[in-house]
Amino acid sequence: MNDAERGLGSSIREVLFTQQTIATRVGELASAIAHDYKRRKPLVVGVLSGCFPLMADLVRGIDIPLEVDFMAVSSYGGNTVSSGVVRILKDLNQAIDGRDVLLVEDIVDTGLTLRYLLDNLQTRRPASVEVCTLLDKQEARTERLDARYVGFRCPNEFVVGYGLDYAGLYRNLPYIGVLKPEVYS
Ligand code: 5GP
Repeated sequence: MNDAERGLGSSIREVLFTQQTIATRVGELASAIAHDYKRRKPLVVGVLSGCFPLMADLVRGIDIPLEVDFMAVSSYGGNTVSSGVVRILKDLNQAIDGRDVLLVEDIVDTGLTLRYLLDNLQTRRPASVEVCTLLDKQEARTERLDARYVGFRCPNEFVVGYGLDYAGLYRNLPYIGVLKPEVYS
């Protein structure tokens, strides 16, 4: 039997954050963001591809006027270890001068991707740039930066699900977990 027959969950060694836990925490983040950005019409920028479930759930919980845009970056090139090389694959559709930008990330690991994005966006003269990340792997951080909104601290392990992939797969798992070692071999 393969994954298609047994279900994706058969490749997961351990569930770290359940669907319900994620939903509750994303709701809390959305409320905090709605409170902080009242009357500022933020531009909420999702960093593709991993952000897509979080973006969909988060913005629907933020009950204030806002706009949405996306960037796509590639940093790992199929590896599970950060290369530090960031490429913009898709840029914003609009100028951000004078805007309050909220970057939405699936996970901050070394911080290299975020550092690059923040430096890049700052050159465009936004009024502010803040970061919301679902997962924060602080142990792996090499860059000095902090996200204003953090869903969960994440252990220093490679995680998949809720947008996070391994070799393009597992983004559609509704929860976040760690893969069994045999999946890599
Ligand atoms: P950083 O540049 O902070 O090291 O890594 C940021 C990007 O690497 C994330 O947006 C994500 O795409 C990827 N990444 C980092 N850690 C993990 C992980 O544990 N699992 C998965 N699937 N991707 C990760």
